[in-house]
Amino acid sequence: MPGRIFGIDLRRASPQPDQPLRNKNNSISSLIPDSRRSSMEHLKRPTLSLAKRLPSHDRKDRSLSKDKHAKDAPRSPLVPAPIKLNMLMESPPALFIDPPNQSTGALISGRLQVTCNLPEVTLTSIIMYLEATTTIKRPVHERCRECATTINDLYEWKFFSKPKHFTASEGMQELPFSHLIPGHLPSTTHGQLGTIEYSLHVRAMSSDGRETEFRRDLPIHRALRPGNDKNSVRIFPPTNLALHVTLPNIIHQIGEFPVQCRMTGIASKREDTQTRWRLRKLTWRIEESEEMISPACSKHANKVGGEGKGVKHESKREIGHDELKQGWKTDFDQGQVEGEFMASIDSSTNPQCSVEAQNGLKISHNIVLELVIAEEWAPNKKPHQATPTGAARVLRTQFNLNVAARSGMGIAWDDEQPPMYDDVPASPPHYQNNLTELADYSGEDLHADVEHLTLGDE
Ligand SMILES: [Zn+2]
Repeated sequence: MPGRIFGIDLRRASPQPDQPLRNKNNSISSLIPDSRRSSMEHLKRPTLSLAKRLPSHDRKDRSLSKDKHAKDAPRSPLVPAPIKLNMLMESPPALFIDPPNQSTGALISGRLQVTCNLPEVTLTSIIMYLEATTTIKRPVHERCRECATTINDLYEWKFFSKPKHFTASEGMQELPFSHLIPGHLPSTTHGQLGTIEYSLHVRAMSSDGRETEFRRDLPIHRALRPGNDKNSVRIFPPTNLALHVTLPNIIHQIGEFPVQCRMTGIASKREDTQTRWRLRKLTWRIEESEEMISPACSKHANKVGGEGKGVKHESKREIGHDELKQGWKTDFDQGQVEGEFMASIDSSTNPQCSVEAQNGLKISHNIVLELVIAEEWAPNKKPHQATPTGAARVLRTQFNLNVAARSGMGIAWDDEQPPMYDDVPASPPHYQNNLTELADYSGEDLHADVEHLTLGDE
């Protein structure tokens, strides 16, 4: 089990500690229809600054609670815990709809179930915390729990204010709870450098000072609404080649997506002869890039030059690729080659959704295209009698991909809210030369293919 620390800088995992229900641009209240607002009033503002208000002895006590159970309070069958805790979730799996600056969050509700193991038990408190746990895979100090793990309380429920009496004869008692989890929070993420997880953590204290704990994971996913396809153009100076690519605006970890490509400017005609580029091979790969800032605990802050500082780590990996040698249509009269192929993420690589969290964890995705083109020459009178000139190039370019969960049957809790009209229509394609690359190509496969490349259309 991860360690835990308290009293650390909450801003790491709580972007707006004083306005936890606020999104970047919209206050949540303005997104809540009037009919809903009244029922929201009782939902206490999630106190992201909660840990700051906990008295230090309480914090210390909480940080030790797991060790206490592990070492000092063995769960011997001879000494049963005074109560048994369980939980029944009534809400569907937590799903944020829309990006962090627009999402209205996810409502959770359920019942905490308390059963007496003894004839009667007096509980002085039952407190439940909605916890966000950030785990660093490369902590500043190796094997330091405090460097590796940060737990932030996003909300807390105090189920009663005075000691409460429970008896076995009453049977299981149920304590209902609900909460609107603010939609700006990062979704549950298991990256290569860091993880973000949410859980409900219950601590019940009996009057004889014994504590019973219960924990339930609470995965939170984010789905984005499908929108218009994205059109992009890349040019490859000094050639006349321009690559037009159409991609879906959202892709998923599982399933194929279409990539439409059209390259223009492949033929140059002179009076009697023409030279042209023939597409020999197209390679695509999907890259997952990750960044994480490993913070240092107070004990190891000197390793990174002081409190509040950290070490940035980056990693990149391939999560899907393929190579195509055919499947496109070449039209030298029009001077273009076009085709569509299906690409997909290899779901066995444990791909993550794109995320950008205030604690420094950022995961983004790109599709990289490499096109190998070979030059050939032909007389205008006999355009089919082409001869390779021997020149070849590789065109390399990349496009951002937005990877998100499928919305499936998930419906935003406030789905009856009127639609927002701030979506900008698809803009005309823009040129991004800095993302393109033109290089000589001398792959062996090319020459093998070129041998057979004297005649015919594709
Ligand atoms: Zn440390």
